[in-house]
Amino acid sequence: QEPQHITEGQAKIQTCGKVFYNPVQEFNRDLSICVISAYATKVRQENLLCNKEPNVEIYKAGQKYEGGLNILEALSATGLRSIRYAKEIPGINKIVANDLSVKAVDDINKNIELNNVSHIVSSSHKDAIMLMYEHRKEKQFDVIDLDPYGCPSMFLDSAVQSIKNGGLLLVTATDMAVLAGNTPETCYSKYGAISLKVKSCHEMAVRILLQCIEAHANKYGKYIEPLLSVSADFYIRVFVRIYNGSYKCKYTLSKLSHVYHCTGCDSVILQPLGITKPNEKNDKITKFSLPTYSTIPSKCEHCGNPFHVGGPIWAAPIHSLEFVSDVLNFATGTLGTYKRIEGILSLISEELVDSPLYYVLEKLSGTIKVETPSMIMLRSAILNAGYQVSSSHMHKTAIKTNAPTKVLWDIMRSW
Ligand code: SAM
Repeated sequence: QEPQHITEGQAKIQTCGKVFYNPVQEFNRDLSICVISAYATKVRQENLLCNKEPNVEIYKAGQKYEGGLNILEALSATGLRSIRYAKEIPGINKIVANDLSVKAVDDINKNIELNNVSHIVSSSHKDAIMLMYEHRKEKQFDVIDLDPYGCPSMFLDSAVQSIKNGGLLLVTATDMAVLAGNTPETCYSKYGAISLKVKSCHEMAVRILLQCIEAHANKYGKYIEPLLSVSADFYIRVFVRIYNGSYKCKYTLSKLSHVYHCTGCDSVILQPLGITKPNEKNDKITKFSLPTYSTIPSKCEHCGNPFHVGGPIWAAPIHSLEFVSDVLNFATGTLGTYKRIEGILSLISEELVDSPLYYVLEKLSGTIKVETPSMIMLRSAILNAGYQVSSSHMHKTAIKTNAPTKVLWDIMRSW
C-alpha cells in the first residue's frame, strides 16, 4: 500500500499505508470531539460546585491544562483521533495514543511531531489490556476511547477498572452481524446476551453492548450512565459514564430485560429481570423481587405463534437528553460532518427515552397485508389513542411508542 497524506479536522497526518485508517469514520471522530468537549465542560461545572477547581474562564484547544482531562486512546492506529482531540478539545492535560503494532506506533510518533502536539500527546506501544491493567489502582484515566476492529468486549474488563469515578468511556462495535441476530450463539459468547433478528436490531445491538459494559462494571462495584448511543453506517458507538457505587449495582437487574420476539408477527414483549425499589427514607437500602413471568403467554396473543427469547438487553434510557443538548452546542460548522451530527443529534433529542426498541412502518403493514399508511397518519392515530410516539435516528421509518402492541395492530387493521 502507498503512503498517504490525510487532512481531517485540525490534523494533518501521514501513514505508511499499512496502518488502519478509515475516512468513513470521520463522523465517529467528529462526534467524539463534541461529546468529550461537552463532558469536559460538565466535569468542570461539577468540580466548581465542590470547589475542586479554580474558575478558569477560557480553555483553549491545543493548550495543556494541569488538572485537565487525562485521555487514553487504547487502540490508536495512526494517532489521528488523539491528535484531533489534542487540537480540537479545550481543557486537556494529556492523551496517551496506544497501539500494539510497531508500524502504527511509528506513524503515531511521526504524526505527533508533524502536528506539534508532543506537549499533550504521547505514544505507547503496549497491549491495550495490559496498559489499562497498569492503571487499575492509580493514575486512572478520565476518558478511555475503545475503537477496535469488530467486538470490544475483551477490552471492557480492564477499561472499567482503569477509569476514574464519573469517567467517560467511549466504545465502538463494528461486528453488527453478530449483534443484529445473525449468530445469536456468538453474540452470547462475546456479549453475554442472545441477539435476535428483530426489526429494531440496531437498537437491540446498542442495548446488548450497554448491558455488557454494565455487567463488567458491576463486578467492581461500578455502574454505567449512558449519555449518548448512536447507530451509524456499519457500526454502533456508545458514550457512557462509569460511577463507583456497589449499592447502585442492586438496581442493575431492574434496568435489564429479556426480549420475547414472536416468530409469526414480529411482536416484541420485554420482560424485566428483576424489580429493585429504594427504601423511601434511605436509597442505600433496597428491596428486590424476582418477576413472576405471569405476563408472558406461551404463544403470541396476536397470531398464536411461539416466541424466541433473547437478551438480556439494557432496557433503561440509552441517552441523557440533557447531555445530548449540551453536545449539540459543541457541533460547530468547522467539523467536516457537522450537518450529519446536527441532523442525528436533533433526531435523538426527540426520541422517546422510556420506550425501548421500535416498530418499522412498512413491516407492520406487510405483516397484516394492508396498504402502508403515511408516517404522519400513523403517528396521529397513536397520539389520538392517548399514547406517545417518536421516530428513531436508527431507522428511517421507525416508530417508537409507549402504546401496547395490541393498540398498534388495532390501528393498522382499521386502515
Ligand atoms: N481509533 C483509530 C482511528 O480512529 O483511526 C482506529 C483504530 S483501528 C480500528 C484498531 C487498532 O487497534 C489497530 O491499529 C490495531 O493495531 C490495534 N490493536 C488491536 N489489538 C490491540 C491490542 N490488544 N492492544 C493495542 N492495540 C491493538
